[in-house]
Amino acid sequence: MLPNLRAYHRPTSLEEAVQRIRPPAVVPLAGGTVLLPSRDPAVEEVVDLSGLGLTYIQVGEDGIHIGATTSLQHLLESPPLAEWTADCIGTVVRLTASRNLRGQATIGGMVMAGGPENPLLVFLLALDAGLTLYGPTPIRLSLDEFLNRRDEFRHRGVLITELVVPYPGALWGMGFAHVGRTPRDRPIVCAAAFLQQDGGLCRTARLVLGGVAERPLRAREAEAFLRNRPLKPEEFRAAARIAASPLRPPGDFRGSGEYRRAMAEVLARRALEHARRNTK
Ligand SMILES: Cc1cc2nc3c(=O)[nH]c(=O)nc-3n(C[C@H](O)[C@H](O)[C@H](O)COP(=O)(O)OP(=O)(O)OC[C@H]3O[C@@H](n4cnc5c(N)ncnc54)[C@H](O)[C@@H]3O)c2cc1C
Repeated sequence: MLPNLRAYHRPTSLEEAVQRIRPPAVVPLAGGTVLLPSRDPAVEEVVDLSGLGLTYIQVGEDGIHIGATTSLQHLLESPPLAEWTADCIGTVVRLTASRNLRGQATIGGMVMAGGPENPLLVFLLALDAGLTLYGPTPIRLSLDEFLNRRDEFRHRGVLITELVVPYPGALWGMGFAHVGRTPRDRPIVCAAAFLQQDGGLCRTARLVLGGVAERPLRAREAEAFLRNRPLKPEEFRAAARIAASPLRPPGDFRGSGEYRRAMAEVLARRALEHARRNTK
C-alpha cells in the first residue's frame, strides 16, 4: 500500500478533482491496481475518480465514447465494441489483464500506466482512438499524441476523462497477433492492424507494434507503403519488413532485442493477414 497516505478524497465534479490533484503528492486513484501496490512514498493524498460519472460506453455519431473509469471487463462485454473491432476486443482485453484485474482496472488507468507491450494500448492505436483530457479546460488529442507526452500530462495532473473509438466506415478489417512465454502470459511482442479497402485496393492502413520500443509504435512507413496497393500476401510481407527494419528494441529476460525485431516482422504480417480475413 502507500506508506505516507494520509487523506482520501472522492469529488463529484471534474473541477473539484482537478483542483485537488497536485502530483506527486496528490494523485488520481482509478482502479488502484497499479497505484496502491506501488508503495510510492511521494503520494500523500489520493483523489478517487469513481464519483465523477465517467463509467459508460455510449455510441455517438462520430464513434464509441468510453468514460475513463470504465472497467476493462465492461469493454469486453460491450456489443458495439465487439462489432466495431471484428470481435478482436475480447481476445485483446483477456490478454491485457486477468479476470480479477479486469473488474477493477480502468481504461483511464491503463492509458496512463500501460507498458510498451500492453495489448489494449496497441489495439486502441490501430483503431485510431482519441482522448479527452481535462486540466482544467478540455483538450482533445489522439492516443498517439498523448503517449508522446504522457509524462508531461502526468506531472501536470491532467485527468483523462474519455476515450473515443472512431466509426470505422465500410469495408474494413482488424487483426491482432502476439507471442508470449505461454498462451495466457502477457505478450513479449504484439501487433495490431486496421485495413480499409475500396475496389480491392488498400485505402487506409494502420499498423501498430508493441514490445519493441519504450512505447507502442505506429509503423507509419509501412502504412504509407500499403496505401493504394492490393491487399495481397506479398504486399503484407513487404510492409512487415518495412515496419521491422528500423527497430532496435531493447532486450530483457523475456526476449532479446534480435528476437523482438524478428517477431515484430512475423507478427506485423500476421496481423495484416488477420485484418484482411476479417474484412466486412
Ligand atoms: C499484477 C499486475 C500485472 C500487470 N501487468 C501489466 C503488464 O504486463 N503490462 C501492462 O501494460 N500493464 C500491466 N498492469 C497494469 C495495468 O495496465 C493496470 O492494472 C491498469 O490498467 C491500471 O488501471 P487502474 O484503473 O487500476 O489504475 P490506477 O492504479 O488507479 O492508476 C494508475 C496510474 O494512472 C493514474 N490515473 C488513473 N486514472 C487516471 C485518469 N483517468 N486520468 C489521469 N490519471 C489517471 C493514477 O494516478 C496512477 O498514476 C498490471 C497490473 C497488475 C496489478
